[in-house]
Amino acid sequence: TDPALIRNFCIIAHIDHGKSTLADRMLQITGVVDDRSMRAQYLDRMDIERERGITIKSQAVRLPWNGHVLNMIDTPGHVDFTYEVSRSLQACEGAILLVDAAQGIEAQTLANLYLAMHNDLHIIPVLNKIDLPAAQPEKFAEELAGLIGCDPSDVLRVSGKTGVGVKELLDHVVETVPAPVGDADAAARALIFDSVYDTYRGVVTYVRVVDGHLGKRERITMMSTQATHETLEIGVISPEPKVAEKGLGVGEVGYLITGVKDVRQSRVGDTVTSAARGATEMLAGYDHPRPMVFSGLYPIDGDEYPELREALDKLQLNDASLVYEPETSAALGFGFRVGFLGLLHMEIIRERLEREFGLSLISTAPNVVYRVVMEDGKELTVTNPSEFPTGGKIAQVFEPVTKSTILAPAEFIGAIMEICQGRRGQLQGMDYLSEDRVEIRYTLPLGEIIFDFFDQLKSRTRGYASLDYEPAGEQEADLVKVDILLQGEPVDAFSAIVHKDKAYGYGVDMAKKLRELIPRQQFEVPIQAAIGARVIARENIRAIRKDVLAKCYGGDISRKRKLLEKQKEGKKRMKMVGRVEVPQEAFVAALSTE
Ligand code: GDP
Ligand code: MG
Repeated sequence: TDPALIRNFCIIAHIDHGKSTLADRMLQITGVVDDRSMRAQYLDRMDIERERGITIKSQAVRLPWNGHVLNMIDTPGHVDFTYEVSRSLQACEGAILLVDAAQGIEAQTLANLYLAMHNDLHIIPVLNKIDLPAAQPEKFAEELAGLIGCDPSDVLRVSGKTGVGVKELLDHVVETVPAPVGDADAAARALIFDSVYDTYRGVVTYVRVVDGHLGKRERITMMSTQATHETLEIGVISPEPKVAEKGLGVGEVGYLITGVKDVRQSRVGDTVTSAARGATEMLAGYDHPRPMVFSGLYPIDGDEYPELREALDKLQLNDASLVYEPETSAALGFGFRVGFLGLLHMEIIRERLEREFGLSLISTAPNVVYRVVMEDGKELTVTNPSEFPTGGKIAQVFEPVTKSTILAPAEFIGAIMEICQGRRGQLQGMDYLSEDRVEIRYTLPLGEIIFDFFDQLKSRTRGYASLDYEPAGEQEADLVKVDILLQGEPVDAFSAIVHKDKAYGYGVDMAKKLRELIPRQQFEVPIQAAIGARVIARENIRAIRKDVLAKCYGGDISRKRKLLEKQKEGKKRMKMVGRVEVPQEAFVAALSTE
């Protein structure tokens, strides 16, 4: 295709503002999906995406429109997947910035807009859902225009649901988004913006060609690793894969299949070039996404450990950001320490493990990555409370911090500041987007955000606040490890790294919870919370005499035996902590976040 006829654009928006629905209408209006095959959220192909109504993977689709070729890239909206969004943006020249006409600008609207501006994309402001009775297009057109510096009359109005305004929007894309520019005669360079594992076809790599040309049966090189592969198939998605016999040229967006089995061999952000005539310079911006949040994952039934390992191996084929290593807990047995991009990523992985692989899992409380400097100058990276040094002298502990942005109606400023202050936030600034909507910026420790911050924020603002954050380095903090002891034995699964001021609260809560959850034993069981050797909270589980046999007076031997067997079975689901029997359910309940 002549690059002058190509328009590459993405749709960016806050979650639920209607990206996927608008994408559906575009598929229909351009005729690539007929009315009969149409289903809602056509491009959200994973079950979990369809059920949750969220987009996790980016999708690229080629749409014919009035003699032009439009490549539309639908992006995930959630902060955990910002890395993927930013790659997708690099594959485009334009972005439709979609805003729900009943909601207005939200935190991810801003975050995505800044990403798009950073990538020098042409931005098309669009209000969506104008069919809603609650829509306030006049008000929000003004807000949006103020934000990007255009006239309110330049803000387009559409309904992804009814299709109103979508044709005009497509025309507008053709008219205003710049055609891709590249050197057709140069060595091939293509940016990998997505990489997906498919059981039948192996890894499918999505690319945007910047210079040169990629063809079928050509040896290609991944520039970051210098690994070479042969392209077995090359094509475009419209909306199903279609082989492109002539390959892909400047500005084109499509996929290639090389037979590699692992997405880590074909990484998002990497540059593909030709092996015979390699480019010398990679396209900008390749870096590994780093796991931000760690948690221990254990099978409830210890026998399922090999299955858990296999399941993680399989998921990693499709998710280069997932990292894990074996870990052993005295309380929970064999499991894995798993690193995630954020809380949603964690939830999704856990849900997939349970649903797609039929596993039942316990996960320990999530924690961030700490850097601990000892007095003798040694340094360690702590991804697990059990690695937090207790012996030697700690000089400093550093924790990751974020630049966080909260958008909400102005009436909630007080409540929001209270929550942020309570979590060691530092106010960085505040701006009014309109007279009743504010943007509040805080520096907040990541460790505070991953601990039900979002839920609190939502409940204190009746659901009106939205949050976005990005990593912003680290800061020194007064952090300690709190251990929970049963009869003097520490239970590793309950240890946590918390700020000094919160240590007491954590200890008291955990001790109280466990007192409720652990059944009485034949002896008294003290529960203690401690920092090192210093006990900060204490509860007691009183003793009982549990004599099951006393209930069956004399005679019936078989009944006695049955009872004893039953009791034995029950014990299998008990974990021993020292002499204390702790039922599996107690771990599950104590570690659940509610
Ligand atoms: P995404 O998270 O940005 O991809 O948003 P979705 O496309 O999944 O839409 C979120 C919700 O808004 C869904 O329940 C849609 O049915 C609804 N929605 C999307 N567009 C419109 C619209 O134009 N009008 C109305 N009334 N609802 C819409
Ligand atoms: Mg979506």
